[in-house]
Amino acid sequence: MKIQGTISLKQGRDHSVKRFHPWIFSGAIQQTLGDPGDGSWVEVQDAKKATLGFGHYQNGSITVRVITFGTSAPTETIYAEKIGRALDQRLETCVVSEHTNAYRLVHGEGDGLPGLVIDIYHEVAIVQAHSSGMLIDRTLVADAIKHVFEERSIKLSAVYNKSISGKSESEYLLGMAAVPHIVAEHGNKFYVDWEEGQKTGFFLDQRENRKLLGEMARGKTVLNTFCYTGGFSVYALRGGAKLVNSVDASEKAISLTRKNLSLNGFDSNQHECYARDTFDFLKDKKDVYDLIILDPPAFAKHKEARHQAVKGYQRLNAEAMKAIRSGGIIFTFSCSQVVDSQLFYDTIVSAAIQAGRQVKVGHHLSQPADHPVSLFHREGEYLKGLVLYVE
Ligand code: SAH
Repeated sequence: MKIQGTISLKQGRDHSVKRFHPWIFSGAIQQTLGDPGDGSWVEVQDAKKATLGFGHYQNGSITVRVITFGTSAPTETIYAEKIGRALDQRLETCVVSEHTNAYRLVHGEGDGLPGLVIDIYHEVAIVQAHSSGMLIDRTLVADAIKHVFEERSIKLSAVYNKSISGKSESEYLLGMAAVPHIVAEHGNKFYVDWEEGQKTGFFLDQRENRKLLGEMARGKTVLNTFCYTGGFSVYALRGGAKLVNSVDASEKAISLTRKNLSLNGFDSNQHECYARDTFDFLKDKKDVYDLIILDPPAFAKHKEARHQAVKGYQRLNAEAMKAIRSGGIIFTFSCSQVVDSQLFYDTIVSAAIQAGRQVKVGHHLSQPADHPVSLFHREGEYLKGLVLYVE
């Protein structure tokens, strides 16, 4: 790769890089040599000019995202090597199987590729760049995905670049595929539309939590709030739920949920869908449900919003605890990275106090093996959940 500049760090600011933390903050930089543009590759050195690694430069608070650690400069094969390793890990951890063909192939820093997300929907790869460097390198990434799949004789028919800033900049980098596409997840089927859908089209991170929910749903009256594509609803019905109600503020999400329920052969006397606000919906639903799922969008996207977010989680959970039948179960989640698992737990304790219900915790849930977290980059942990038994 062409290296377009050198960043040297201040004395004493190299410890985290030496421990494989991939972010270099602007405040740690002593000197910038050359004229690196946003997204170009740079070398990172310590205060004594020893090479620590190479990565993508970007003018901002995180100035360098380190991709290779050590003294060897990255070559053109860097993406194929890292994506190949990531794919092997997905195969080894049994994320991919004859019943599941939708998975996250690359999860940013967790796979040593900061700024890059790749999701696989059956034979289609969706690339999403969260940094200028990954956006510039997107065709190299697409070629690397093709190479890695060919090498392992796994079929791939298209690579789509899903822009984070709007549909107009999204494009097929290789091949073409029609949307919506049908994928399989633990034998359940879902339509995925990466062109119009949120994120890359589907929330893969809840796969194992949906499976657990399905195993606990038999005979129950279930409420799936913030349902989006209806993932939890499909698993609940497959697991033998008596009745499922799905709620989402978006009409589009409700229509997707309906389509996914009928794709899986469930008819409308087993479920009802509501395009409503969850808080509003819960108000007059006392003692109706045995099982409630609370999977809201991230209430806080940055630290400054954390306090408000905690108040939001507390209110939401208190309302659900007040509404649920005695002996009921709540699956509650937070995908806000800035609300860590301890803070989330404490917030649930406050909610139970507010609701005046006795609650015990069963399972502690998190993100699955295709959303790995580097031990040196705790920031990669974002999804947490609890299974609550409300007396
Ligand atoms: N549980 C889903 C993912 C949820 S994404 C899954 O397993 O795939 C969050 C969803 O919450 C989005 O579809 C969004 O439309 C919806 N949403 C956001 N605010 C809401 C509100 N106040 N009430 C109901 N739905 C809301």
